[in-house]
Amino acid sequence: MTTSLPDSIRRLLRERFDIRRLRPGQAEVIDSVLQGHDTLAVMPTGSGKSLCYQVPAMCLDGLTVVVSPLISLMQDQAEKLEGLELDPAVVNSAVGDAAADAALDSLARRDERIVLTTPEQLQDPEVIASIQRNRVALLVVDEAHCISQWGHDFRPAYLGIPDAVRALGRPPVLALTATATDALIHDIAAQLDLQSLCVVKAGLYRPNLIYAVQHVAGDDERLAQVRSLVAREPGAGIVYTATVREAERLHAGLKEAGQDVALYHGRCTAAQRRDSQAAFMAGDCRVMVATNAFGMGIDKPDVRFIVHAQLPGSLDAYYQETGRAGRDGEPARCTLLHDERDKRVQQFFLANRYPGADTLEQIVAAMGGRRDAAAPLSLDALHQALPNVARRKLQVALTMLCEADIARRHQDGSYSRQPDKNDAEAVRSIAAQYAERSDKDRATLEAMLHYARSGRCRWAMLLEYYGEHGGPERCGTCDSCVRAAEAARHPVKPLPETKTGASALRFAEGDKVRARRHGVGTVVATTRERVDVRFPDGTIRRFVPRYLRREA
Ligand SMILES: [Zn+2]
Repeated sequence: MTTSLPDSIRRLLRERFDIRRLRPGQAEVIDSVLQGHDTLAVMPTGSGKSLCYQVPAMCLDGLTVVVSPLISLMQDQAEKLEGLELDPAVVNSAVGDAAADAALDSLARRDERIVLTTPEQLQDPEVIASIQRNRVALLVVDEAHCISQWGHDFRPAYLGIPDAVRALGRPPVLALTATATDALIHDIAAQLDLQSLCVVKAGLYRPNLIYAVQHVAGDDERLAQVRSLVAREPGAGIVYTATVREAERLHAGLKEAGQDVALYHGRCTAAQRRDSQAAFMAGDCRVMVATNAFGMGIDKPDVRFIVHAQLPGSLDAYYQETGRAGRDGEPARCTLLHDERDKRVQQFFLANRYPGADTLEQIVAAMGGRRDAAAPLSLDALHQALPNVARRKLQVALTMLCEADIARRHQDGSYSRQPDKNDAEAVRSIAAQYAERSDKDRATLEAMLHYARSGRCRWAMLLEYYGEHGGPERCGTCDSCVRAAEAARHPVKPLPETKTGASALRFAEGDKVRARRHGVGTVVATTRERVDVRFPDGTIRRFVPRYLRREA
């Protein structure tokens, strides 16, 4: 579908932005926003999402409010807007009181067309009051998937956005996200209460990203593979881990190997994270070793490789994280190291993701024993009252309780209990609902595992996961495509079947097997269709079972 924009917009694009041709999806989004629809744009990182609100901000009569999760991201956006002579008001916790006051003053004087702010600031009545003096023409929610507690980047402060939208007179909303499955889109629309929603999905296929999976067995092999990949790849890169412990271990291991590495995870201090990020962005440090805490809003065009040293929790997370590579359009490699044991780490995260009935009951009790007179409690106060419940889990639980109408969230972010509710029964029913949700999460993890184990084209699998049609059946560059092309060039004859070989499907981990040309190796993983074998030189190769013979 192509949308033709009015000539006035085309002229604006040429004259102010020096743009003659829009990228996929941009015209549809701009058109939908200018027509006053709520719009959800699913566009890969680096596909020009900001243009989708910059253009309307110049055309619409009134203020455009842009909500971003990260202050670092906002700084970058502010500089770009200044370059377009759209001096934005910036209101966040990092600009200092005086600067924030000045920004609020100028908003109150209606000097600005754009204000950049965070979801936390939007919960501040003073900020809302200043914005309210303007006619708000558009509210933009960047990284909109953060509002979904089903998403891997859930940010509880996003839950306050719908209140702000109402307080600002319900302007049209533009929700932007890099990637979203249908379930996530549905949840974003529901949470943000989007009306007459127009969803625009731009193409997710980026042929410059070259995907591969390498199988490893054990921590030593993982470190060795990470070292060799980092040594081999040119340019800047990110090594992602699932756990803080592994991030620290690999960081130390790479440093020992003489690599220029920085470290970033949720347990680093704010100053450490800032320094690491700055060193990586400036190119002072070539490789970043990080958990998924690192990356959202990182706009470094020349990331040449991304290694996932451990299995991520979902294909969505994997696609988003690898999407940070190759934004300049040049080739970039995305390699997943897969150890069959890694799934246990993710299973552990899943098991602890949702609060159970007992936790919910504890929270309800903490909100006040008597149903009628309990004063609302802030999140901090509740956290103090329940030190055994992790903060994030507490927030998820409170959202669940509000959704079930057992608790209520007030404008200032505090919570109280709704009177006259049969709490015990309702708590049990939400717990059951979340048990169901856990099952879906397990299916999400299964999809990730399937990707890691499969011999199909990686891109074909990713696009299929997002329900996107029209991509290539074979990308021609991923490890599976390359292997298939090689196999077509050098067909290997099956080994003659022996009495034991006839039941070749029954290989098990640890079996010694012989493969023609490669010699004897050890089975490290199997499924019905294939067997992964590690050879003495450390390589792991994949075989159809009938090409293998069991060794005594
Ligand atoms: Zn492929």
